[in-house]
Amino acid sequence: MLRRFSSPTPFAGGLVEHECPRCGREVRLPLGALCGECRAQIERKARKLGRWASGISTLLLVVYVLIRLPPDPYARLVSAVGVVVWYLLSNLVVRRAARELLS
Ligand SMILES: [Zn+2]
Repeated sequence: MLRRFSSPTPFAGGLVEHECPRCGREVRLPLGALCGECRAQIERKARKLGRWASGISTLLLVVYVLIRLPPDPYARLVSAVGVVVWYLLSNLVVRRAARELLS
């Protein structure tokens, strides 16, 4: 018969890593987690990539809107709001995807 495990935190020793899986630095981390410096480096790269991707795509959108823009002032306002929303959403999506892919 198997002996019953009586620890209040079962498998606690197995859920801790002693080095970062990305850089190999000696730190005490939960299983699968990255060290603070690796997370900061990934966040910086993701932010930079998000700025570039959303900036370029927004620039292309602005060129398209300026070419196709009707003379109506309400249409100009809606287009301007659309461009701002496009920049914000594309920046968020690219940063999130970059964070997932780089880690
Ligand atoms: Zn690391």
